[in-house]
Amino acid sequence: MISCREITNLLADYLEGLLDQRAVRALEAHLSGCRTCENFMRTYRTTTTLLRELGEEEVPEELKDRVLRFFHERRERPEAFS
Ligand SMILES: [Zn+2]
Repeated sequence: MISCREITNLLADYLEGLLDQRAVRALEAHLSGCRTCENFMRTYRTTTTLLRELGEEEVPEELKDRVLRFFHERRERPEAFS
């Protein structure tokens, strides 16, 4: 079984379509049973879409900082989010 920490690390590749079928299935199986990771993926996808639409230079530094800090914390301490 794939762990929440692995999900965090795989998510960017997953959303870019870079994972192989086996990894995708494992990740989706985890997401369907783990609300924490499902929410995280939704936040991640919304944020990255938003950043792309705005164009990176138009994103306020403060917001970028907050998002990056969130991802960093999520990666360092996944247990705090479950
Ligand atoms: Zn999870």
